[in-house]
Amino acid sequence: MAHALGARASVSPSVRTDASLRKTGFKDHNKLRFDNKLWITLSSVNLKSRYSSTKYQFKVMSMSVQQAVRSKIPVQPLELENANEPPLNLYKPKEPYTATIVSVERLVGPKAPGETCHIVIDHGGNVPYWEGQSYGIIPPGENPKKPGSPHNVRLYSIASTRYGDSFDGKTASLCVRRAIYYDPETGKEDPSKNGTCSNFLCNSKPGDKIQLTGPSGKIMLLPEGDPNATHIMIATGTGVAPFRGYLRRMFMEAVTTYKFGGLAWLFLGVANTDSLLYDAEFSSYLKDYPDNFRYDKALSREQKNKNGGKMYVQDKIEEYSDEIFKLLDGGAHIYFCGLKGMMPGIQDTLKRVAEQRGESWDAKLSQLKKNKQWHVEVY
Ligand code: FAD
Repeated sequence: MAHALGARASVSPSVRTDASLRKTGFKDHNKLRFDNKLWITLSSVNLKSRYSSTKYQFKVMSMSVQQAVRSKIPVQPLELENANEPPLNLYKPKEPYTATIVSVERLVGPKAPGETCHIVIDHGGNVPYWEGQSYGIIPPGENPKKPGSPHNVRLYSIASTRYGDSFDGKTASLCVRRAIYYDPETGKEDPSKNGTCSNFLCNSKPGDKIQLTGPSGKIMLLPEGDPNATHIMIATGTGVAPFRGYLRRMFMEAVTTYKFGGLAWLFLGVANTDSLLYDAEFSSYLKDYPDNFRYDKALSREQKNKNGGKMYVQDKIEEYSDEIFKLLDGGAHIYFCGLKGMMPGIQDTLKRVAEQRGESWDAKLSQLKKNKQWHVEVY
């Protein structure tokens, strides 16, 4: 954390004017309570003119830097920080939890190929989870392959922190891409073959009931033991979901037990600008935490790589490979999430870069895995 207090004092958090954040529950908090004390956030005062006394300056400097410079959102219930292990499979397919849809919001612009939705689910605090875990959803109806039985569970990465978008520990959010089937011969949509669960979720309405299982997964948990760690996150499309959760925990919420002071670096690959997911939220962190957050986008249909081809996340990885390799050597965690098809291209690039550096990728990869620095969840 290298923010100088004075340099940050006059900067208003950009989130306060961001409509998309307001929609997902971000409210204007000029006055926040930390540890039962009322702090006026620095965006709402002119520190130089009104609070120039030595006493006040000492008080501000003695707070954590993040609390001093940010208007983070207080979260509760704080017991959600007490567990030593993540919750696992509290609800199983035979006895799922009946949750309620709070909202369904289209995330992408008109020029995006396909539709991706942000879905907020009310679990009443009964299906707690940690950032990086997934929920299972059982769509309504009968499994066509097993008449008389329910559909199989579909997994979705949770895109919120454990506190949810309403900061009260009662909701979870998903980032769901609607699976549409196009006939390879005619090129036309064949609705009878559209994805069952993704369409059910994207078509659902506030108040609708859904069957939840989980939470599941330990691979993508955020290792919080070292709050100054480096986290390199590589996402394609909805693979950004767990990273949205991480980043809200790092930069949006006032979490008493986890005060992030490391580096989070997100690489996001999508088709074009209209397909970007949570871009306003991520851009606000970039503005407010330039020393702790980096955000690189690969827009395959809009940008060209150095060879004149489409720009994919692996091209961005290659562009920054020196820094990435150094960070990995220094113990950084690297996470991959998105469609399975992203991994071969990324692995080829990492192998090529390693060889150019005179290193063996196979040896490096096994070391990263052994050190638990390598986290992959692709589907
Ligand atoms: P299904 O009904 O299961 O169909 C699968 C595919 O087959 C669809 O593309 C469908 O169009 C096609 N199809 C259906 N019938 C036919 C037919 N007769 N012939 C040919 N093709 C056909 N997805 C997300 O959107 N967001 C996430 O965050 C996310 N996280 C995940 C995390 C994990 C750990 C895993 C394993 C998966 C994740 N997924 C995620 C994927 C998700 O679980 C589903 O696989 C996805 O939504 C498709 O499910 P569906 O029920 O809509 O499609």
